[in-house]
Amino acid sequence: MEGRYETNQLMQIIEKEIDAIYIIDESKNTYVKIKGNPLFDRVFGEKGNYDEMLKALVFHFNDKSEDVAERYHVFLSNLNKFDGKYSKRIKMFVNDEPVIAQMTIYPHTEEGKYIILITEMDNNVYVQDFLKFEKELGIDSTYLFTMHVNLDEDICNSVCVTEMSDDPMNYTGLKFSQWRMNIVNMIFPDDQNLFLEYTDPEFLRNHLESRRSTSIDCQMMNLEGKYIWVKLIFKKIQKADDSFCFVFMVQDIHDTSMKLIEDLKKYEEMSNRDPLTGIYNHGKIKEELTFALKRLKDDGTAVSLAMFDIDYFKNVNDTYGHATGDYVIKSISGMVNEYLSEYNTHFGRWGGEEFVIIANEIDSDELQHICEELRIRISNYKFSNVNQITCSFGVIGVTPGETSLQAFERVDKAMYKAKSNGRNCVVCG
Ligand code: GH3
Ligand code: MG
Ligand code: MG
Repeated sequence: MEGRYETNQLMQIIEKEIDAIYIIDESKNTYVKIKGNPLFDRVFGEKGNYDEMLKALVFHFNDKSEDVAERYHVFLSNLNKFDGKYSKRIKMFVNDEPVIAQMTIYPHTEEGKYIILITEMDNNVYVQDFLKFEKELGIDSTYLFTMHVNLDEDICNSVCVTEMSDDPMNYTGLKFSQWRMNIVNMIFPDDQNLFLEYTDPEFLRNHLESRRSTSIDCQMMNLEGKYIWVKLIFKKIQKADDSFCFVFMVQDIHDTSMKLIEDLKKYEEMSNRDPLTGIYNHGKIKEELTFALKRLKDDGTAVSLAMFDIDYFKNVNDTYGHATGDYVIKSISGMVNEYLSEYNTHFGRWGGEEFVIIANEIDSDELQHICEELRIRISNYKFSNVNQITCSFGVIGVTPGETSLQAFERVDKAMYKAKSNGRNCVVCG
């Protein structure tokens, strides 16, 4: 009949649309299959343990799921009891392949029993949906979970695991003090003390304000068992009865944090470099000598030092101009840098046309030979439009107990000796 459907026709449509149906008996902690398909049969079979099923549905089903479930235990123990209907989009792993599914739980007419319906979603539909969801909310990151805490009564009023959607799950009877000691296991070991410090009730009472949020960044294990960067955000809620309540959110900031760390590394690296030559600058060379002195003191690792200066460089500027002078400085530093790359050395521009080499695990005799080779290479180098350029070198072996200032003074003296000896030579001090 046109425009009318019989109940059994509708049941056929529903039967066709739903991939898997299970009946849960919460008191026995079991499930039995009513209907399945090859995909879900592979994961759940004909029957099984209800807790295990929830683990597979909530935690991404892969090698690490046991470990992850263990850490997320505090959520899991409150997950198996459902009031009324509950629907959630989930992501599972079957043979390492992600499967997006819609899970719906209905109460059975019998107390303590539920019906679980699972339908696999087309991946494209999921992606479209998810992008729309992010766009509508104007967010580019996901909240992993949020909760309300009443510190006076030591309870978490509500928690939602919101990896895929923002539907709340209301849990009761979860003590904040106990929750905190469980959650700490999900935090990256190095960050655990920070987490405990910020979730300490005394700290929260003294630092949280209702006007603004307080946050820390740390690494936390996600549902796939990977450590990701998250922002833990706390904000006090103003209550009429003056009870101390706050909201707590975990925001996934992994991608932006990784980019930030990369950028910061780049800037850190740039702050150590001389802009003209790209080699280490004065500050970085001083720092490297301090490290080397510490190694010499701690385990006797040999360190020697060389300083060299371009001979009659003022003439180069006066004759060919400053730009050509810059070109000579760049050419020499480039050549020396390349030659030193096969040695355990640090090379930097001390200032003007003066350079420093710190040689680790190399004694002054060996460094003297290296400098002799460099001296010859520089004096033989054909600079375009510039006549022969030479350098004068000073070399010393750093002695235990010497300060970096004393070492630099000694090497400077050795270099000036090379100048007074007629230049274009290496003097070991
Ligand atoms: P000496 O053999 O005794 O070292 O003689 P010199 O002419 O090299 O020594 P002096 O210290 O008198 O001159 C160094 C010159 O280097 C002076 C300065 O203008 C020039 N200079 C320093 N830094 C730079 C730079 O970055 N670029 C250029 N083009 N010149 C520089
Ligand atoms: Mg000079
Ligand atoms: Mg000089």
